Amino acid sequence: MGMGGSPTAQLRFDGVRVPDARRLGGEGQGFAIALDALDSGRLGIAACAVGLAQAALDAAVGHARERRRSGRPIADFQGLRFLLADMATRVEAGRALYLEAARLRDGGRPFGRCAAMAKLFCTDAAVRVTTDAVQALGGYGCTADFPVERFLREAEVLQIVEGTHQIQRVVIARHLVGPESR
Ligand SMILES: Cc1cc2nc3c(=O)[nH]c(=O)nc-3n(C[C@H](O)[C@H](O)[C@H](O)COP(=O)(O)OP(=O)(O)OC[C@H]3O[C@@H](n4cnc5c(N)ncnc54)[C@H](O)[C@@H]3O)c2cc1C
Repeated sequence: MGMGGSPTAQLRFDGVRVPDARRLGGEGQGFAIALDALDSGRLGIAACAVGLAQAALDAAVGHARERRRSGRPIADFQGLRFLLADMATRVEAGRALYLEAARLRDGGRPFGRCAAMAKLFCTDAAVRVTTDAVQALGGYGCTADFPVERFLREAEVLQIVEGTHQIQRVVIARHLVGPESR
């Protein structure tokens, strides 16, 4: 579901030998290096989510201006105006959060907590905003003639990749109160 443009496959390494010269970092540091890469990846996914939500908002606004019911553009109806306002608010809040994480990263400061928050918030916002976009387009929104049904599917998978929602919360909570005691 979603991410049709990104070929996804399982890689299996069986008995592979890698020379020392090809090792990233020191011996035993692999897991930490992999986790570091995830922090940056989360930032990328958060940015994708905001772009996706913006596209859904643009489609909804365009449709609301064009589509007429009862002799008026549906953009005249308060129910729809408020829906669009909430969508736009989520997009801007998500954008501000991922840009803050990016600024921390660019400044060489710790950004893992903020990147996890951005991934959590922006992908949630993308699912909500793309769902609302389908609603704003009514029946058209459910057809493949308009892009918003695809946006919704793309948003859903962003909540899974680079660490699920639950894992982002685990990461954020560890930054707040330390690791869980066993
Ligand atoms: C389109 C796509 C592309 C992908 N690309 C890549 C890639 O390029 N590289 C790569 O390495 N992986 C990739 N993945 C894998 C992706 O990172 C995993 O699917 C994701 O991390 C979830 O792991 P899982 O599927 O094993 O789910 P599981 O770990 O089995 O999780 C199932 C459910 O249990 C919850 N859960 C699991 N552990 C905990 C916990 N400790 N606390 C609370 N809840 C928990 C999860 O949040 C989820 O809701 C991709 C996945 C998809 C769908």
